[in-house]
Amino acid sequence: MNDFELFMYEGPTKRCSRCHEDLPLEAFGVDRERKDGKNMYCKPCICIKARSRKRKKPKRKPMTLSRLSPRTAIITAVRNGFGDRRDIQQITGIHWEELCDLIAELSLDEGILKFNRVTRKFEAAA
Ligand SMILES: [Zn+2]
Repeated sequence: MNDFELFMYEGPTKRCSRCHEDLPLEAFGVDRERKDGKNMYCKPCICIKARSRKRKKPKRKPMTLSRLSPRTAIITAVRNGFGDRRDIQQITGIHWEELCDLIAELSLDEGILKFNRVTRKFEAAA
């Protein structure tokens, strides 16, 4: 298991019926009709479906870092002590799948972010 996988792994996951990704349960909305109480589709997929149905851009939540490019937003968030992936996601407002790709790039390929195995959080490399 590499640093990124370790960072990403935390308990149970569920497979999205649309993008077929195994994602953490919190990536799914609540659906009381279903046995596991979770939606069939992950939140990003629900967003995409809703967008194509309405043909309107969903309003993006106002986020402190939302004006930065996704890469810069992630690096800035981590430099400011947001090393937990949920914190990073919340403060940047970046969709889960995109966030995962970018963190993998920044840590595994470029070494800009370093995983701290003790705190299980990302830190900006010096
Ligand atoms: Zn999905």
